[in-house]
Amino acid sequence: KFPVSSSIKRFASRFKDAGFSLYIVGGAIRDYLLGIENDDFDFTTDAEPTEVISLFHHVIPTGIAHGTVTVIFEKQKFEVTTFRSDGSYVDGRHPESVTFIRNLEEDLKRRDFTINAFAADCSTGEIIDLHDGRKDLKNQCIRAIGDPQLRFKEDALRIFRGCRLASKLNFSIEKETLEAMRDLKDNLLLVSMERIRDELFKMVESNQPIIGLTYLKQTSILTLLFPALAKGEGIEQGGMHHQDILSHNFSSCQAAADMHFPLEVRLAALFHDIGKSTTIANKNGVNTFYQHEIVGQKETKKIMSHLKASNEQINTVSLLVREHMFSYKEDWTDSAVRRFINRVGLAYIPLLFQLRLADQKAIHDSIDITMVSELDGRIQKILSAHDALSIRDLAINGNDLMQAGIPKGPRIGQLLNLLLETVLDDPKQNKKEQLLAIAESYQSELGTTT
Ligand code: ATP
Ligand code: MG
Repeated sequence: KFPVSSSIKRFASRFKDAGFSLYIVGGAIRDYLLGIENDDFDFTTDAEPTEVISLFHHVIPTGIAHGTVTVIFEKQKFEVTTFRSDGSYVDGRHPESVTFIRNLEEDLKRRDFTINAFAADCSTGEIIDLHDGRKDLKNQCIRAIGDPQLRFKEDALRIFRGCRLASKLNFSIEKETLEAMRDLKDNLLLVSMERIRDELFKMVESNQPIIGLTYLKQTSILTLLFPALAKGEGIEQGGMHHQDILSHNFSSCQAAADMHFPLEVRLAALFHDIGKSTTIANKNGVNTFYQHEIVGQKETKKIMSHLKASNEQINTVSLLVREHMFSYKEDWTDSAVRRFINRVGLAYIPLLFQLRLADQKAIHDSIDITMVSELDGRIQKILSAHDALSIRDLAINGNDLMQAGIPKGPRIGQLLNLLLETVLDDPKQNKKEQLLAIAESYQSELGTTT
């Protein structure tokens, strides 16, 4: 029996009083049976969306074309979907038509995996299991409902969801289901990148990203969707590394998950050595990783943009990849520390340290925080001196330069950058008169060339 909260019972009685039924479905029941916390309730009902809307004051038509609305009830958000039976899928992407039905059984049949097809009656809490989901839960097995080939042809995202679910639950994918995933993976190209991104990010945010990533590799989905990442397979790195590039990227992502680091760090860990595949290939097997991080930044940007990640995410993750090779030594001067802060950006330094620890844990299975904590100490010391660390902190700005007769244009930015270099080297120079004089000498040195 599912423990239905009193608030859900009140919610359900609004449906019941109007002659409709309401069931909890999806991940919440599955996770309850596994003893995992999950407060994300999905409901299904025989009431049509317009009928649901008429029952409550505050309803948001979140996915009304698919029969989904979000009801705000007692300050909670409940997603309610009308039982549906999808028409045929012509393009493997969207059902041609959605017909609403008045039948729970039909609704459960169109769900993806047996362990995702439980329903619980909202008044009694009785768990309905029409697809032997309990048995598969016990065997820790992910199995498509019905014929896996057909089900993945209907909606290829299910292929990716299977890998994601394997990560979340640390389950294995049943043999026929896995074969169908491999056979039909090309259909993933028909699925929108936004949907794939959401599943990939959930996989990376789970406790066991390496499980799903390994399934993506085994089924060649990785090669299909992320060839730049996949090509690290089989390329050995030598040195302290005991794994090929791809396995090391996977292990670093797993290590970041083990240490509960945020999504951006986990993604950066997954991509951090991606550039090495290219730099090694270009050197005809000569083992040099010279500037692989610059290539890595570019490739990471490409993948993150392809995934339609937010600009903030694209920039953060690719910056972390670019900077991950820093190697602090005691002999760094204060200006070297100031340059480091300026290049990485204060906000990203803790994330960069986390990435370093994940990389280290993947190689040595242990971490040594000496280097990052010493560098952190130096950074704190610099910060407490309040020296200029970015153009914003300079004692002059673009307007001051224009007033001094420098024409508006790219030259202004160039000069400000040069002045910052000067000030990072020697903070005492950060005075208006001094900087103007330096700017003028630069200006005459640079002449009219840009
Ligand atoms: P989580 O707890 O991680 O959110 P979930 O199983 O609840 O996992 P959701 O994406 O919230 O995942 O989906 C809710 C339910 O909707 C699933 O349990 C499944 O029954 C059904 N479902 C979601 N996506 C699909 C799909 N592409 N095809 C068929 N059924 C799906
Ligand atoms: Mg859910």
